[in-house]
Amino acid sequence: MRTLTDERLLAEYSRDAGILTIQPRAVMVAEEEGDLLQVIQRANRDLVPITPRGSGTSIPSQSVGGGYVVVQTRKDVRITGTEFFCTPAVIKADLNLTLGHANLWMPVDPSSYRACTIGGMVSNNSSGARTLKYGSTIDYVKELTVVLPEEGKRVVKALPLDEALHGDSSTRKVASLVADNWRSILREKPKTTKNSSGYRLERLIHDGLFDLPKLFVGSEGTLGLISRLTCRAREKAPLRSLLVVSIDSLKDLEFVVEELRASKPSAVELLDKSIFLKAKRGELLKQFQGSEKGYLVYVEIEGRDEAELRGVLEQVAENEKLAKFDPFLLREAGEMSKAWETRDLALTIAGEVRSGNRHPVPGIEDLVVPPGKLRDLLAFLETTFADLGLEFISYGHAGDANLHVRPLLDLSDGRDKQLLSEIMSSCFEEVWKMGGSITGEHGDGLLRAGYVKEQYPETYELMVQIKDIYDPKWLMNPGVKLQRP
Ligand SMILES: Cc1cc2nc3c(=O)[nH]c(=O)nc-3n(C[C@H](O)[C@H](O)[C@H](O)COP(=O)(O)OP(=O)(O)OC[C@H]3O[C@@H](n4cnc5c(N)ncnc54)[C@H](O)[C@@H]3O)c2cc1C
Repeated sequence: MRTLTDERLLAEYSRDAGILTIQPRAVMVAEEEGDLLQVIQRANRDLVPITPRGSGTSIPSQSVGGGYVVVQTRKDVRITGTEFFCTPAVIKADLNLTLGHANLWMPVDPSSYRACTIGGMVSNNSSGARTLKYGSTIDYVKELTVVLPEEGKRVVKALPLDEALHGDSSTRKVASLVADNWRSILREKPKTTKNSSGYRLERLIHDGLFDLPKLFVGSEGTLGLISRLTCRAREKAPLRSLLVVSIDSLKDLEFVVEELRASKPSAVELLDKSIFLKAKRGELLKQFQGSEKGYLVYVEIEGRDEAELRGVLEQVAENEKLAKFDPFLLREAGEMSKAWETRDLALTIAGEVRSGNRHPVPGIEDLVVPPGKLRDLLAFLETTFADLGLEFISYGHAGDANLHVRPLLDLSDGRDKQLLSEIMSSCFEEVWKMGGSITGEHGDGLLRAGYVKEQYPETYELMVQIKDIYDPKWLMNPGVKLQRP
């Protein structure tokens, strides 16, 4: 293991893709699993917190911390049947290539898939455009090896619930807490198709099993260090086409989404064209027909073979209500991948948008509501920002009603800083009224940890008790997700 304390390097690791800067005491580079035990022992001895880190692309500040930032370097992928075993440092794009050689695929591709690690995806319960049809990372994780602050290395896998209730000390305590509070857990589950807030307790019991790995998925490094993982993959990716619909106003979005629902699209994505124009990157819109005004809706259609794909496309072509939006179809692999690249660039390009000293900031960048409530959320946001006289950008996963919204603010100005916290409170309040969640895929981080208690008024204390069982000294990413009572 290498311990790095060079000032330039510490400055680099004091930032992720969020707005907080926190300089670590040291960066620990773990080359093998045994190094993680050393980090844990050192942290326990010196009472220094640990922040696990993959590529540091997290947005609400969960891969920065003031203690030891731990990066793993070993990159290993092995495939057995339709499952793959891998180390957390593997980059998702590289995993895709390896799986592709075996005619397999793991459908969750965050827009950051060229940079982010599978360890970061598991820890944030990341999602991608195809989550609409194929689910989030949590749906693919089968088994984990973790290094815990008190117990050291452990393999975590699903067990019969009865066995878990009589198992080792920590498993028994967690299983009992979850089983005893099962009704509250289900009652508080957001009515959304995706969620990365709090611990995903409602996924822990199913089919008579206690599925402990699901507790670690989305736990944002607050319980232990993941050193290996086993995930399910899918066989043979289907054939695809991309339908691009141009809408002038967000009012039309839900109508278009509803009309296309019957075609069971694998992705329905929203792209605000003004992001590209404001960032002076309008050339990227030239690949699409129509004006530069309004929004693009990407609808990905799949078929197991040509005949099935053609059938679905014919069904879409016959829809007269959609015809007025002049949808156009991309079928060539090259033009589809160019369109997806443009979609994946949305956040990076949005980062270049400026209005005086103001620029798009995260905080409410990952709101998610039940799919039928998308129109209400959009109306609320438009009124809120019009009343405040603030510009904002929005894009995201329309099919899952998961919107990436960023107001333009100058956080070096105290008034704008205060405004961000007021915007977060009022938007989260609205999202809760709709049965939604403050984060669909990015996680709570340090930025949203203060709101998780209101997200889960009944079960927040239960989450704190679970954290206490695995990490009684709160060494693992303290302040992320949960706040110490
Ligand atoms: C341009 C851009 C686009 C994005 N698009 C998407 C998107 O489409 N969908 C989406 O879901 N997210 C998206 N994100 C957010 C982010 O990229 C994902 O959450 C990603 O999976 C994080 O991976 P990472 O390797 O960067 O992890 P990091 O940011 O380094 O870490 C993420 C979390 O995991 C923990 N962690 C990392 N490794 C371990 C480990 N071995 N053991 C325990 N905990 C660990 C960290 O402590 C932290 O809490 C985007 C971000 C950017 C900047």
